[in-house]
Amino acid sequence: ISTSKDDVYKLVKENGIEFIRLQFTDIFGIIKSTSIMVDELDKAFAGELFFDGSSIDGFARIEESDQVIVPDPSTFKIMPWRPKEEGVARMICDVYAPDGKPFEGCPRYILKKAVREAEEMSYKLNIGPEGEFFLFYTDEKGYPTFDIHDNAGYFDLAPVDMGEDARRNIILTLKKMGFKIEASHHEVAPGQHEIDFKYDEALATADNWMTFRDVVKNVAKQFNLYATFMPKPFTGKNGNAMHCNQSLFSGDTDVFYDSDKADGLSDIALNYIGGLLKHARGMAPITNPIVNSYKRLKPGYEAPIHIAWSTSNRSTLIRIPAARGNSTRVELRNPDPTANPYLVFAVMLRAGLDGIKNEISPPAPQNGNMYTMHNEEIPLFPRDLQEAIVEMKKDPLIRETLGDHIYERYLDVKQKEWNEYAETVHNWEINRYLRKF
Ligand code: GLU
Ligand code: MG
Ligand code: MG
Repeated sequence: ISTSKDDVYKLVKENGIEFIRLQFTDIFGIIKSTSIMVDELDKAFAGELFFDGSSIDGFARIEESDQVIVPDPSTFKIMPWRPKEEGVARMICDVYAPDGKPFEGCPRYILKKAVREAEEMSYKLNIGPEGEFFLFYTDEKGYPTFDIHDNAGYFDLAPVDMGEDARRNIILTLKKMGFKIEASHHEVAPGQHEIDFKYDEALATADNWMTFRDVVKNVAKQFNLYATFMPKPFTGKNGNAMHCNQSLFSGDTDVFYDSDKADGLSDIALNYIGGLLKHARGMAPITNPIVNSYKRLKPGYEAPIHIAWSTSNRSTLIRIPAARGNSTRVELRNPDPTANPYLVFAVMLRAGLDGIKNEISPPAPQNGNMYTMHNEEIPLFPRDLQEAIVEMKKDPLIRETLGDHIYERYLDVKQKEWNEYAETVHNWEINRYLRKF
């Protein structure tokens, strides 16, 4: 049941909505938003709302900066944490050039293109993401501190504390916004939580993921906590992942399942895995976009370091969870929650489809603990952002998927980010070397 334009007008009236937030995501996965009054809705739907694209990172140049945002009525949601009277709703938008053409720098457009290619092969990609984050105390001014709010661990049941209440409230808020929450728990590291919501088609899940991040941050704030999705805030503790559970459907059937195979995995599933493994290194700057992303991908923290797959092992890049039938799925474990979900899903899908089209067979599964394994034949995932950038440049599928606009701007910004990091003298170096030499 998707909301139409007419439904939007009805819901606005019924709920006394005054403000509409028009949201979109920039190429680096940051949510952007402008607020209009409900009287402007006609104009918004008619594509008459312009904004300055040159003020958004990686969007437009100053000489050609007018861009248009058009809201997608099916994404209409009331923001439950805003006042009930004279309330606030949001819609997610597509970005267009002034001539009405889709804007090549709009990540939602890039994902739609990849989804269309899958549809032409009569496939639909479903994705169920797992969201991990940390909660920190804030100071008197509301800024995040580095003070973690609890000391609990995996599946711990805390006495009633702010962390538990915040998590409860996050879930209830997401439910009000139409999410089906499957599970939530305290994660391994202190102050770390996980919330998993039900899978949906790729585009809906990318929209949901952006909403999820927004809700987590806003609700945490109400409890004087700060939620961060930073991949690895603490040395020596687990980091934050965005596991992507994915399955391909043809009609109502999960084509990853084959009851005639001993392990229940179809040839399509194997080829899809083959494609993901083949392009994992090239996709790295998209799935693991920041300098800090690569500090999470070290041995011993349930995060992958090798390009390998397995049926049970949590130390490989891809795991196949035990469920079969229409729940047969491939879990890609390297992406982290700082990634742009639209771009991640687009490159993932096209990597998988490449595997299917070219019948790429994956190597044999690795069922041992890869953290303690020394097998030079198993390739490693890039170890830092610089290596990832080099790999992305070697993989033409990534450029083709992202289009030139995003590809060029993305790499340019990432290279600058790496350079700045590499040129900075870090505390670790001072501690290690200053007194020694
Ligand atoms: N937090 C772990 C990671 O960074 C994943 C834990 C899990 O398997 O859920 O990748
Ligand atoms: Mg987890
Ligand atoms: Mg998982």
